Amino acid sequence: MKALMKVAKGYGNIEIREVEIPEIIRDDDVLIKVKAAGVCGTDIHIYHDKFTSYPPVIMGHEFSGIVVETGKSVRKWNKGDRVVGEPHTMACGVCNLCRQGKVQICAEKRSPGWGINGAFTDYLIMPEKLLHKVPDILSDDVAALAEPMAIVTHQVLERGRVEPQDFVAVIGAGPIGLLSAFAAKEGGASKVAVLGLSCDRELRFKVAEKLGIDYTINVQEENALDRIMALTGGKGADLVVEASGAEAGINTAMDVVKKCGRITAVGVSGKERIGFQWDKAINKVCDIFFNLSSSYISWDRGLSIMANSKVDLSPIITHKELIDDWQQAFENIQNGRAVKVMFIPASEI
Ligand SMILES: [Zn+2]
Ligand SMILES: [Zn+2]
Repeated sequence: MKALMKVAKGYGNIEIREVEIPEIIRDDDVLIKVKAAGVCGTDIHIYHDKFTSYPPVIMGHEFSGIVVETGKSVRKWNKGDRVVGEPHTMACGVCNLCRQGKVQICAEKRSPGWGINGAFTDYLIMPEKLLHKVPDILSDDVAALAEPMAIVTHQVLERGRVEPQDFVAVIGAGPIGLLSAFAAKEGGASKVAVLGLSCDRELRFKVAEKLGIDYTINVQEENALDRIMALTGGKGADLVVEASGAEAGINTAMDVVKKCGRITAVGVSGKERIGFQWDKAINKVCDIFFNLSSSYISWDRGLSIMANSKVDLSPIITHKELIDDWQQAFENIQNGRAVKVMFIPASEI
């Protein structure tokens, strides 16, 4: 089978290689036929060598698929089951964090796509305990949004605690920003605004509108603080989701949050240090939540939200490609011409 691989450390070093279909080795292994696999910002960081990887490794950690074979001890899954999987492979299970259920931040964790072989191919192996059932109503493509959906369910709903009546401002209009806005609406927010740039107008803001997000704000054309104040009766946003990772965005979060409000940090800056309005945070007495990845609970919750929502999430998926076209796909993501790209195995087209 063909696989898109990071073949060596360093900038680039990504290519398509012919590899064997993986075999069940451990008793709890499940062999999954990939149906769709989403390209994530992490994959772009791996290209630029800004995210640790252990090459040679098949990329891709966001997937949906179907079970084709199970190891001896697998009880929960059968051939034909539609599944998605938490990328928390190789978490040790015995450290203090794992014992608290926080496997996503175990030091031993190595996820599919950068630590072990992932989903930008036809088949992958996952341990049974990390799989979740795909609700029948979700298409394979939309189901492959389960991983970013779990992230926003954890970081925006569980950690950021969206409450009824909240005005939520989301900074950043990429796939995670848009899913955060969707999650906030589903979580009971009264109004949600997505803040972005002029380059987001053509595509990302239009997707936001299709998802029923109340407001899109182009911060290069209007003053974000003035607009949020006008929309909230001079109070500020109850919850700000910082999904840009940009220094300017992080400081805008500080500007637009209300006194005693909450900021949940979703975006990664990619820098060692950034300028931050420390005293403003103190004067506003705000809570800031830092987050990494998704929790166990957030997976079934996120899938439940996706299955029960009246909103169709498919507009987030702007491109379906073969892995052969990966270069164009990565480029489109980097310059904002795509929101979410799904790689579909050639055998599924
Ligand atoms: Zn991802
Ligand atoms: Zn551990």
